[in-house]
Amino acid sequence: MSRLVVVSNRVPNPRATQPQAGGLSVALSGALKRRGGMWFGWDGQLSQGPVSRPRIEQADGIDYATLPLSRADYDDFYLGYSNAVIWPVFHFNLGAMDYQRSHSEGYARVNALFADALTPLLEPDDTLWVHDYHLMPLARELRERGVRQRIGFFLHIPFPDYDVLRAMPGHRQLLEDLCRFDLLGFQTENDRHAFEESASLAVGALVHEPGRLRHRNRELRTGVYPVGVDVDELADVSQRTLTAPRVRRLLDGLGERDLIIGVDRLDYSKGLEQRFRAFETLLQDYAHRRGHTVLMQIASPSRSSISEYADLRQRLEGLTGHINGTYADLDWAPIHYLNKTFARGSLMGLYRAARVGLVTPLRDGMNLVAKEYVSSQDPENPGVLVLSELAGAAAELEAAVLVNPYDLDSIAAGVNTALAMPLPERRRRHAQMMDVLRANAIDVWEARFMADLTGPAESAD
Ligand code: UDP
Repeated sequence: MSRLVVVSNRVPNPRATQPQAGGLSVALSGALKRRGGMWFGWDGQLSQGPVSRPRIEQADGIDYATLPLSRADYDDFYLGYSNAVIWPVFHFNLGAMDYQRSHSEGYARVNALFADALTPLLEPDDTLWVHDYHLMPLARELRERGVRQRIGFFLHIPFPDYDVLRAMPGHRQLLEDLCRFDLLGFQTENDRHAFEESASLAVGALVHEPGRLRHRNRELRTGVYPVGVDVDELADVSQRTLTAPRVRRLLDGLGERDLIIGVDRLDYSKGLEQRFRAFETLLQDYAHRRGHTVLMQIASPSRSSISEYADLRQRLEGLTGHINGTYADLDWAPIHYLNKTFARGSLMGLYRAARVGLVTPLRDGMNLVAKEYVSSQDPENPGVLVLSELAGAAAELEAAVLVNPYDLDSIAAGVNTALAMPLPERRRRHAQMMDVLRANAIDVWEARFMADLTGPAESAD
């Protein structure tokens, strides 16, 4: 079996004790721990000047090869083009895009730096799997340095429709660059279709059939691989952590009240403001819920030096104050807002304790929290997932209560329905979702992508 080389922007520190929020690192550490191999990328540190020799460390059978970024690279590549241009545009939010030429220069610079540092570490039989929107030019950069190994790419975030994408400066180059991979993986059929349409309209790729394209005399493939979770592990952890002291204290404090839980990075794509307002609508329009329902929202800090994120944090604090100020009573506050990151394991007990999982992103590539919530439920007495129909996970979790995340009445009605749902219907919906989650579990994601990437090639570069 050839060696797997995973490349992602951020590589977690193998010795870190701090929890890391984010679907990508959760999915990848599992894949590499099972297969072994090398994980290449940024170590999360800042250096005085550019460093092009990675540091190599071994842990859990994985070689971690990591580099720091210079301050300018961090600002232009990471905060700039990746997170203030690609992230908002790919989440259909053109209003949040902040384009500057220095951003796209930084993006090109870091992808070239990664290619310089990675090329000497590669062995002839390696298979490379590149992850996410920070590294779309990497295959081209590697090919220009003579790398001939198979290179696959997986996009964890949505792919926008062409009419949105074409507003983004540099989009043609990105599409050209994506066509230099051998296999492109997407979360949903919708994303794959949007890419194929853009590649065809903007850079003349010929789509033979969905999944097979020709671009500049090269064949490439695309596929749909929804990221999954480890269903059995989550069920097990949730059962054990339900009795953890902090979860017990929470449950004691709640008494007979119903808990609704939200867990997200603090990001404008997650629809948190709409969610808070929808919860206010629930308290207004369904008066019998007042005093009997608590929304616990964990909002893990993220990209806080980007102004859109800092502003959002302030607005959420304001909304929490307003709603609690308006509705709270001596023994009840409706919103419990926690602006910090929790260890992933301790979330599972909270999920299990909650009657409703409220997941309402305005757009999301997948949303692992939705899948974790369902996997953590007691099958005999499961809670109900209220899910945005604009999350990638909605393509699989059709048995959730699906809502439009922009429509506050739809969310409030969805939550009310979920809280009132009779046990047989809760069980039926839960069992249906568990079947899908088992069929698309995390090891299936990795195995299917790798089988397609290492399968028979159509042509070499
Ligand atoms: N998460 C965590 N601690 C937190 C908040 C989130 O460990 O305080 C984890 C969560 O369990 C999930 C991931 O971070 O596995 C978030 O992934 P998701 O796909 O929902 O969203 P993303 O952050 O990748 O946009």
